[in-house]
Amino acid sequence: MKTNMYLPTISLLALSSIFCAYKFAEDPSPEQALQKLKEGNARFISGKSIRPNQDMERVKLVAEGQKPFAIIVGCSDSRVPNEIIFDQGLGDLFIVRTAGQVSSYASWGSMEFAHAVLGAKLIVVLGHTKCGAVAAACKVPDVPGHIVTLINAIKPAAEEARKHEGDEVENAVKINVAMQVKQLKGLEPVMSKAVKNNQLKIIGAVYDLQTGKVEFLPDNYLETLK
Ligand SMILES: [Zn+2]
Repeated sequence: MKTNMYLPTISLLALSSIFCAYKFAEDPSPEQALQKLKEGNARFISGKSIRPNQDMERVKLVAEGQKPFAIIVGCSDSRVPNEIIFDQGLGDLFIVRTAGQVSSYASWGSMEFAHAVLGAKLIVVLGHTKCGAVAAACKVPDVPGHIVTLINAIKPAAEEARKHEGDEVENAVKINVAMQVKQLKGLEPVMSKAVKNNQLKIIGAVYDLQTGKVEFLPDNYLETLK
């Protein structure tokens, strides 16, 4: 997908110096970042959250700049608070949230900023079970105002979900996530290049409202559907 985004290197360097004004010891690889999220979610579901990086010392440290280790592109649903379910703290996660994690230019720019300027090397597209936006896209009710924008964006996933075995909405939740991952991986010029050069990993996941567990989807999820 083409966009008009133009990010010359010199501007990125200048932006980096403004927003990452201090040095963090940690600079995790995409795999290490993913592992940190998996471990945080494991602590959360077992009732052993340590709530890291949430004291006043951390507040003062991140006031100097930020270096989030992961970007979460998630649903706005109030039941999926990202820092809590991944057991992280201030300055750890750069979060872009809209209903149904539908993204467009402003969201894409936010993700590109977090990767290219702040240095995050992992994007997790995080859907969740019983997502109202996805359920609405499956039923296509009459909705007021701009809600239709969300439904139109999720409709291809809802239509694909009907072709497969199992619960329509739960299928659509996963398919929507997988389609969004695919879209972001192909997004020019920043993300497609970073993914190709292995500087950025983009992965899909679904949070289970019942269990609190985050299930990460395989890269080939769309091809595994029956
Ligand atoms: Zn939702």
